[in-house]
Amino acid sequence: MSTPISPTEFMSAAPKSVSGSSPWAARYAIELRRVFLDHAARAPRTLQQHLGPSELGVECDRQVVGKMAALPTTNHVADPWPSIRGTALHAWAADAFTEDNERRGLLRWVAENPVVPHPDHPGTSDLYDAVEQSVDDHKFLGESSMAKIRKGWPRKYLVQLLLYGLGYLNLGLPVRRVVVAAYPATAASLDGLYVRDHEFTSDGYTLLPENVDLLELVFRQTAERRALADQVLAGDLRIDAVNASPDNDECFFCPFYRPQSAKDSGPGCPGTAAASTPNG
Ligand code: SF4
Repeated sequence: MSTPISPTEFMSAAPKSVSGSSPWAARYAIELRRVFLDHAARAPRTLQQHLGPSELGVECDRQVVGKMAALPTTNHVADPWPSIRGTALHAWAADAFTEDNERRGLLRWVAENPVVPHPDHPGTSDLYDAVEQSVDDHKFLGESSMAKIRKGWPRKYLVQLLLYGLGYLNLGLPVRRVVVAAYPATAASLDGLYVRDHEFTSDGYTLLPENVDLLELVFRQTAERRALADQVLAGDLRIDAVNASPDNDECFFCPFYRPQSAKDSGPGCPGTAAASTPNG
């Protein structure tokens, strides 16, 4: 597996200074960034504690249990810029598809629609295409994530899409396939857009057996993780006793990542640092 950044690089990543053409400009840059960071920290996505479809397919029990128990964040390094960019692009995409309906006089696209694949885990699906009977999710990705999606389905994306698909079936709408549309967020052109699809049902309504199996597994896992989170909240279980699945793609963005904890036994999860630290 490729390593996007090492724990050392991660720890040296923040906080960086911003710059400007003069001392005043450099100070002003800090103030502008502060507004972005403050606003990002208050965004509903950051504050929400109920887990949506995008989080249920994460492989690491410890991360999901920690989120379910609303444990305090220990990762103060992860930069919110990709998520700010993603939020803005999602809003733009919703407008683009909604207005495409008007431009073409059709009711083809349904953007940003609430779905309930599971009563405890509702979510909002990016896009339903009534012509293709597909459920689409926009991912605005950097280069390394674009490369990964070209190779195959990351489990959490597939689970997220299956849950959205189930949500649409629950609304009585047909879903033939689920689709991830990966847009090259850091490239200069849209030419790198890559679409990956997955067959969802045999006839629009009857789930394929492999999808039933994966959804059942996820619901079982989610119930087990909820039970562990209740034990953590009751003080009967320490979060560091919950099984962890360190993964470079996940840990650096995990709210509980703190590589220093491999050495100081303080709060947080050492994540991938444990693998590279002799005593970890
Ligand atoms: S840092 Fe990594 S191993 Fe630890 S809880 Fe987060 S995802 Fe799991």
